[in-house]
Amino acid sequence: MKSYRKELHFHTPTRRAFLNITDKVEAALKESGIQEGLCLVNAKNITASVFINDDEAGLHQDFEAWLEKLAPEKPYSQYHHNGYEDNGDAHLKRTIMGREVVVAITKGELDFGTWEQIFYGEFDGKRDKRVLVKIIGE
Ligand code: ZN
Repeated sequence: MKSYRKELHFHTPTRRAFLNITDKVEAALKESGIQEGLCLVNAKNITASVFINDDEAGLHQDFEAWLEKLAPEKPYSQYHHNGYEDNGDAHLKRTIMGREVVVAITKGELDFGTWEQIFYGEFDGKRDKRVLVKIIGE
């Protein structure tokens, strides 16, 4: 069995962002040379997510509005976590949107369902963040 590991780096100019990282994961898969196996992609920070959904701008606006209803950024004082930090909302948003995805690899390609794309969800940006790509197979 082969194993491949790569870290992706992000530093968004805004506090929140959704980035389509499918091309970066596909590039990692090509580098790995693995034809059959599994590809794990996970955020390495607890205020960011990796998730799969549609690359459609309206949906991304809907995610933003929905998450702000569930865990509004402000007032900062509403969160017990916000003693020395102001990112209590970002931890909650990350938990809802998820830490990682696993995608099957078939014939050297990510074996997606219809319209599936991989996204990095940033909820406390303007700082260095990392995503792990781990691929196993043969
Ligand atoms: Zn925090």
